[in-house]
Amino acid sequence: MRKKIVAGNWKMNKTAEEAVALTSEVVNMIGDEVTGDVQVVLCVPSVYLTTLRQYLTGRVALGAQNCHEKASGAYTGEVSAPMLKSIGVQYVILGHSERRQYFNETNEQLAEKVNIALANNLTPIFCCGESLDLRQSGDFVGFVASQLTDSLFHLSPEEFGKIVIAYEPIWAIGTGLTASAAQAQEMHAALRQHIAAKYGPEVADNTTILYGGSANAQNAEELFACPDVDGGLIGGASLKSRDFTTVVKGVKN
Ligand code: PEP
Repeated sequence: MRKKIVAGNWKMNKTAEEAVALTSEVVNMIGDEVTGDVQVVLCVPSVYLTTLRQYLTGRVALGAQNCHEKASGAYTGEVSAPMLKSIGVQYVILGHSERRQYFNETNEQLAEKVNIALANNLTPIFCCGESLDLRQSGDFVGFVASQLTDSLFHLSPEEFGKIVIAYEPIWAIGTGLTASAAQAQEMHAALRQHIAAKYGPEVADNTTILYGGSANAQNAEELFACPDVDGGLIGGASLKSRDFTTVVKGVKN
């Protein structure tokens, strides 16, 4: 059985005080209200990782939003995978479309980031997804599959087994425009098939594939009910404890 995960991506939001308040609210609500077997991850701004670690429990893990592809060196302003590991971080988002767009991250660079994250026992949440142009007029399934091929398919089956994938159509991120459950299911099933063709059905079956893109308290349950959707990567709705907890409760085991 593959793991179900709901990860919150706070992006560049919250002051220190707000971050502590949101984290303790989420931890309490998850503890009180969520009975199912779902791993919750909070991917917070890196300046808060050390502080927030103290508030977390086994059910709510800590994630970063990026790491550099090198272990250390003259890269002013960057954060490395060994640094994240040294403060107890468990997950790291890699290849978010905002980083691909604003920081020009490439599939090749992301392959290096994936390698260094795995070498430091961090679980990559690898983001992929197509633009609106591609969705409307191109081979969007082939495009997203090639993001996996280029950044992940150099891994051994054992290494690939440690990856979490997040399908995030760019046109749905932060826009209020969600993929329909049918659109999400179509892509997730296609990606699982693509993984099966490379690594075999068992690895594909065990791969957690999250949906991200304006998932919220109203639509999460329907999206998560799709057979190939194993949870979500949640931006805006992760900034309010009640909304985020409702999203988490949308995962049914
Ligand atoms: C995201 O940034 O990963 C995301 C899914 O954002 P939102 O939920 O706000 O669309």
